[in-house]
Amino acid sequence: MPSVPVADLVLRGGGVHTVDPARPSATAVAVGGGRIVAVGDDGDVAALIGSATRVIELRGRTLLPGFQDAHCHPISSGLDQLRCDLLGVTSGRAAVLDAIHAYATSHPDDPWIIGSGWYMADFPNGTPHRRDLDAAVGDRPAYLENRDGHSGWVSSRTLALAGIDASTADPVGGRIERDPDGTPTGALHESAVELVEPFFPPTTQADLERGLLRAQAYFHSLGITAWQDAHVEPAGEATYLAVANRGQLTMRTIGAQWWEPSWDVAAIPDLVARRVSARADRYASTSIKMMLDGVLETFTGAMLEPYLAPDGGSADRTGILFIEPEVVRRIVVELDRNGFQVHFHVIGDRAARIALDALEAALAANGRTDGRHHLAHIQVIHPDDVPRFAALGAIANAQPLWACHERQMDLLTIPFLGPERTGWQYPFGSLVRSGARLAMGSDWGVSTPNPFEEMHVAVERVHHTLVGKMEPLLPDEALTLDQAVHAFTMGSAYVNHLDDTTGSISVGKLADLAVLDRDLWDRGAGSIAAARVVGTFVEGKAVHEDPSLGG
Ligand SMILES: [Zn+2]
Repeated sequence: MPSVPVADLVLRGGGVHTVDPARPSATAVAVGGGRIVAVGDDGDVAALIGSATRVIELRGRTLLPGFQDAHCHPISSGLDQLRCDLLGVTSGRAAVLDAIHAYATSHPDDPWIIGSGWYMADFPNGTPHRRDLDAAVGDRPAYLENRDGHSGWVSSRTLALAGIDASTADPVGGRIERDPDGTPTGALHESAVELVEPFFPPTTQADLERGLLRAQAYFHSLGITAWQDAHVEPAGEATYLAVANRGQLTMRTIGAQWWEPSWDVAAIPDLVARRVSARADRYASTSIKMMLDGVLETFTGAMLEPYLAPDGGSADRTGILFIEPEVVRRIVVELDRNGFQVHFHVIGDRAARIALDALEAALAANGRTDGRHHLAHIQVIHPDDVPRFAALGAIANAQPLWACHERQMDLLTIPFLGPERTGWQYPFGSLVRSGARLAMGSDWGVSTPNPFEEMHVAVERVHHTLVGKMEPLLPDEALTLDQAVHAFTMGSAYVNHLDDTTGSISVGKLADLAVLDRDLWDRGAGSIAAARVVGTFVEGKAVHEDPSLGG
């Protein structure tokens, strides 16, 4: 009698949402040797259960393919979390000072206190004072960066180390905040931060590896099993390789090699060499990150027509383009010819058009390649350009959390776009209707990596904390929950060239899975944003689990 194969893991009795059109839903999945060996109803997997099989009862909870974040910054943001991280401190000045004091007390041997995430609105006149920081950290040097990255807050010891006093002039492009007598207060704006940076302790390779492992554990706790690191340089590649070579890289990673705006095609052979050498189990440097413009809030996003002035007239400025269009075209044609994927940062409608023009040139020059080039952020897309995504095979890489009304949108963006262009923002629905492929990512540490909070906005076009307080932003551009889940699984897997082996729950694929605490499709169970992950598996092995998972 032939022996019946025994599964290592069976999940049954729940809503299996496969993201596989051949069988969209099931109640049970069996895993053997790291792969999915059966998808069906509970009866279909019964014969695969042996004495060594772990059986998890889903009891109506949802099983999904592991999420894939198509744009994030794991190492630097993981490192921020390990340092004095104030992002989660939202209850005002006293709480911020308590958090800094607690961090300093629990890290008595750190020569410096380094951190980030304070919020201007928590301090009088928007600027914190060195005296408060001295009280929290004592005589140690400290540097804490503002949430928006444009200001720093330092202790008296830092000012002394850097030789900054009342006689120090403001540097070009920066300002030293001062008391009435001219003494620096400890708040440094823009380029003034560069006066203290040379004194920071160096970031070591060990620090980077700890940052990566911290980020990986955090993302696994959110059901994420693959990501595209949107900015890798050689130090980041060395970090991934070191962790992978120790067998600790459980996150499937595509690294997007940073393209310096001043480079031209002569830089490409070195990037090819890095693609060959920076390769490990679950890591590949096969993408190139090309940043074309800035952001709208500072008028650095590249627009086809000028921003409006506060009085409603034209401000006679169209933003900043970091690379000239003909240079973008030349580079993209060569990158495509060399088998790279191009991962564009595009915010303004002009930047998006230039990216699409470059992809059109690449298509004409090289024919259809398997580059799977993608445009991340896609804040403002001219309606004429929406159908070009599908026509060119360009993928729309959405950061859906941003597609809603909040203070930054309402105060710093809409007044300067005007009504017509406000209506062109984050056109996810139009893109899908035009046949474009959609992927999703967070841009963590700019935004939360929680895919449920992000998908909540994709579906509702309202941030989950502002429901009932804010109108939906362009509700015609909302996605269905199925579309959002598809984008965050198969859509991002396609961008990552991982769709053959991951992205859906299909027999033969790797068992990268996420168990949710509820039926995500049952709105009676709560909002999308409130869903939690109770178990995450990579090739059938638990990389995160809550005691409530069971089995
Ligand atoms: Zn980014």
